[in-house]
Amino acid sequence: MFRTHTCGELSIKDTGKTVTLSGWVQRARDMGGMTFVDLRDRYGITQLVFNAETNASLAEKANTLGREYVIQVIGTVTERSSKNPKLATGDIEITATSLEVLNASATPPFTIEDNTDGGEDLRMKYRYLDLRRNPLKNNLLNRHRVGKAVREYLDGKGFADIETPFLIKSTPEGARDFVVPSRLNEGQFYALPQSPQTFKQLLMVSGFDRYYQIVRCFRDEDLRADRQPEFTQIDCEMAFVEQEDILNLFEGMVKHVFKSVRGLELPEIPRMTYDDAMMYYGNDKPDLRFGMRFVDLTNTETKQASFKVFDDAAFIVGIKADGCADYTRKQLDELTDFVKRPQIGATGLVYIRCNADGTYKSSVDKFFNEEALKAIGARFDTKPNDLILILAGAENKTRKAMSELRLEMGNRLGLRSKDDFKPLWVVDFPLLEFNEEDQRYYAMHHPFTSPKPEHVQWMIDGVNLGQIKANAYDLVINGVEIGGGSIRIHSRSLQEAMFKTLGLTQEEAEYKFGFILNAFEYGAPPHGGIAFGFDRFCSIVIANEDYIREFIAFPKNNAGRDMMLDAPSDIDAKQKQELGLK
Ligand code: ASP
Repeated sequence: MFRTHTCGELSIKDTGKTVTLSGWVQRARDMGGMTFVDLRDRYGITQLVFNAETNASLAEKANTLGREYVIQVIGTVTERSSKNPKLATGDIEITATSLEVLNASATPPFTIEDNTDGGEDLRMKYRYLDLRRNPLKNNLLNRHRVGKAVREYLDGKGFADIETPFLIKSTPEGARDFVVPSRLNEGQFYALPQSPQTFKQLLMVSGFDRYYQIVRCFRDEDLRADRQPEFTQIDCEMAFVEQEDILNLFEGMVKHVFKSVRGLELPEIPRMTYDDAMMYYGNDKPDLRFGMRFVDLTNTETKQASFKVFDDAAFIVGIKADGCADYTRKQLDELTDFVKRPQIGATGLVYIRCNADGTYKSSVDKFFNEEALKAIGARFDTKPNDLILILAGAENKTRKAMSELRLEMGNRLGLRSKDDFKPLWVVDFPLLEFNEEDQRYYAMHHPFTSPKPEHVQWMIDGVNLGQIKANAYDLVINGVEIGGGSIRIHSRSLQEAMFKTLGLTQEEAEYKFGFILNAFEYGAPPHGGIAFGFDRFCSIVIANEDYIREFIAFPKNNAGRDMMLDAPSDIDAKQKQELGLK
């Protein structure tokens, strides 16, 4: 028997017991006559003592142990004279009577400590060692708990877990597909699914009614910080439901997960339309941990002062930072630099201060007198000591820049607390999105999303396309999109109209999506669903941060490479030949 106990469970009430432990050497200290070893496993750390006076050869052996050696020890649980309250097992130690080295270890390339000295690439290369560290280990164990809570909840609601294929046909949903060459069908390719979207809809046609799967998805997207080419979704679909049924059911799931993993009762999740989210927060995933809503200043006092920047601007928008009128020149310059960074792209930042005595001072005093500033201030309900920040320019770009500035101010003012969770349903998304570059509409969510019933005719007639709203919704927590879904189209003719709107010819639609168009002819029930980004959901529930790599056992780096496997890599000539590749 390798062990009678784990390294995390012995306490003062076990004193006197003879126990066997196995684990890794965290550190060994020769204190002259006494050697102390911290023995670690998944469950914790237990101190071992080797006494040179009572057992010289054993103590000598203990002194040869290196970091990360795997050992087995037999000994007696003894009360410690100097206790360590930071350790669960800190009241006791094991007085060793036997020591066996199960496996030696090379010196690890970085320290296996909560705060390690290893750089990112090195830790990725030796991920199996990095996973021994508490922060990552706990993330993965907590991820397991999130998954378990999800399954518990969905199982309780009658959802069936059904697998769908990974080798499918290439029908890109927005991103590029990863493709897999077929040996048996030379010159032809499978694609890896970007999501099981069409399969889950087909399962509704089959009558399964409530489906879910915690499933890997693959998207060959351009690299952005912390995007993974393969990631996991909690993928769900239901038949005979309306949007309201879906929002309620999955609100329940989110609450259940927070309760069982964090012991936290979330309040009812509020709803906001896409239009309001854009108007008040400048993006479709607002962080509601703080206010600082946008005030639209286009066509107001801003246009009455012959200030060219404002006069020429299609869009002028401001936010108010409470109590920040004492910002120094340096702080204001920092904010100006922030909005001028190329990623943000604003040309400048206008500020208006409301002084302690209620008078105003601004960076545009040359153009705006006290009265004009006061009128602008009134639009924000400004109080003494408040600071107004204004951006002006082209509409979309300015809105985006202000959204970034708002988040930056939230950070600076400590308004984005890690202990605070503000979930939100964003609803009534537009069905279509116009792409200036390609001069055509794309599906905002995906082509299977249905228009709101009152807008169906617009789509059929090809009018007001940009105004068509969909029964589509996103779940957002603290500014991070956690999930999204929609009520689907379930009739062949409407689905065909949708493909036509997206610029697909009838032949293309048939070639790519014939299978689902056909299925819609055989009694497809009304249906809808949602998918949650499981990695992201875990990172928010567990750590309230948006950094998914820390919640995936073996992730890829920012260049899409697996540093440990050194993948992707070349394949040998014979393999290529068999696949008909050059
Ligand atoms: N398949 C969609 C996605 O991956 C989610 C859904 O509509 O259910 O975003």
